[in-house]
Amino acid sequence: MRKPALSDKIEFYWIRSTGESPEGMAETQHAVTLAFDAADEYRPEPPPAPEIPAWQDGSLRIGIHTSIAGDITGSLDMAHGLGANALQIFSSSPRMWARGSSRITDADAARFRARRKELALGPLVIHANYLINLASPNPVLRTQSVQAFHQELARGVALGADFLVVHPGSRLESSIEAGEAAIAQSLKQAARGLKLGELRILLENTAGQGSSLGSRFEELKAVLDACPELPLGVCVDTAHLFAAGWDIRKAAGLEATLRHIEGTVGLDRVRIVHMNDSKVALGSRVDRHEHIGKGKVGLEAFREILNHPMLAGRAFILETPIDKPGDDKRNVAALWRLTGRVVRATGEGMEPRRDKRITAKKKAKAKARA
Ligand SMILES: [Zn+2]
Ligand SMILES: [Zn+2]
Repeated sequence: MRKPALSDKIEFYWIRSTGESPEGMAETQHAVTLAFDAADEYRPEPPPAPEIPAWQDGSLRIGIHTSIAGDITGSLDMAHGLGANALQIFSSSPRMWARGSSRITDADAARFRARRKELALGPLVIHANYLINLASPNPVLRTQSVQAFHQELARGVALGADFLVVHPGSRLESSIEAGEAAIAQSLKQAARGLKLGELRILLENTAGQGSSLGSRFEELKAVLDACPELPLGVCVDTAHLFAAGWDIRKAAGLEATLRHIEGTVGLDRVRIVHMNDSKVALGSRVDRHEHIGKGKVGLEAFREILNHPMLAGRAFILETPIDKPGDDKRNVAALWRLTGRVVRATGEGMEPRRDKRITAKKKAKAKARA
């Protein structure tokens, strides 16, 4: 027969004195048991549960590309102030090859991570430099691109980014197959020696301008298939889809597009959707973004995309132009409205994101006029 344990006795007395089995009993038992079980003293601490970032709470994520000009942490406050709960940034100047070290200092990275946590922003997407061409048949440009992409990955890890979006590249005079093989090899070379942690590389579909690869999902799939060892996924840009000939204006066209994506790269690989209306007509094969609802794609398509069950759980990131002050805020609000929610922007950090070069150009013009 089992010897009655101390906890049994406690339960017995408790039930007798109160007439019921109380809540909190388990806690009482636990405390008493611990006090009498010597073995417990040597029990190792259970490993801590992996920390799930606050943004992965299942809530809808709408973000916008914000500027890092001046201070990289300012990009977070700007996104938050615009009413977004996710964001995309460049981690260095997007149209220049980095001169010297483009490393982010530990102090800057720590400040950035802490502020991001406070604002519960996520996912954090980094868009790679536009000069990078991982498909280039020119060995000098290829090497430069691989090195620059290696730096992009290192900065992404330092900042705690979730995704690094890159355009597959232009094959120039080489064949499609050679271009795909070059991209796969470049990605592997760039990732060499890095611990990527949670960072994923997303290949973005393109408008198909010139010899750029990636306007066909079969091309993206060829690269994904060639790099099973890398954490690769896909970013789908709506303006690029439309320019590449996918008619997403009506529900049936969107459905056909999503089925095609599912049948090629697989929708589970699609982690981010770039939400841009298009200045140009269907199949134009050029990349010209427009404000949500003001372009050739139209508002209804974005409502359908935001609420489509096949795209549930993806983050939606705007890359719309700034033509006048308030455009960013209006585009963020437009997306929230299409989801049936109204999110008021706090107004903090709401300076329009501005490219330093554009500002400098404007200043020079103003000076010339004066
Ligand atoms: Zn892009
Ligand atoms: Zn895009």
